Amino acid sequence: MKLLIVEDETKIGDYLRQGLTEAGFVVNLARTGLDGHHLAVTEPYDLIILDVMLPDMDGWRILKSLREMGSKVPVLFLTARDSVDERVTGLELGADDYLVKPFAFAELLARVRTLLRRGTAPATETTLKVADLELDLMRRRVTRAGHRILLTVKEFALLELLVRRQGEVLPRSLIASQVWDMNFDSDTNVIDVAIRRVRAKIDDGFEPKLIHTIRGMGYMLDAPDKD
Ligand code: CA
Repeated sequence: MKLLIVEDETKIGDYLRQGLTEAGFVVNLARTGLDGHHLAVTEPYDLIILDVMLPDMDGWRILKSLREMGSKVPVLFLTARDSVDERVTGLELGADDYLVKPFAFAELLARVRTLLRRGTAPATETTLKVADLELDLMRRRVTRAGHRILLTVKEFALLELLVRRQGEVLPRSLIASQVWDMNFDSDTNVIDVAIRRVRAKIDDGFEPKLIHTIRGMGYMLDAPDKD
């Protein structure tokens, strides 16, 4: 799942990005309101963590703009003081929850998970299935034919991307930007190595094979039609 953090305080932004990345999310961090707004309207996110006090475009304006455009993305806002007015304003503008700074990371993570569960509406959407492969997005668990498969955080993110886009050929550059949040030179083999590891875990000893190499193009996860 992909999150956007809009936070101008360097230390808090870095801390949140690191913590949420370690928790298995793909995280983009914007350090100004305008950058945050731009990312929020151009990239799909599962949740936005929005600081209110930002120098160029404050959190309220970003939130208002997103809701006016019809975006239903869950928004958790961060407020510096425990002001009732501020909380009411945020919730009236369509925020889903708030945290008062300073907060414990564990508290933020709990709120994020709750919002994601709520946000993805039908509870079934927290489980992705292809053939007999199942990903439980909330518990970060993978099984194939009922067998538990242990993946690293990055391997899980990679498999989640492949499953969500099943049947599509994903170029390495797209995988790099979605899973590693960065661009790789085309000659690095980080992605090939990661794919090989995931494939060994989910395809070795199972049929049908789900991960396919599309020569010269990239990778695809697909299962043959049952009928
Ligand atoms: Ca701030």
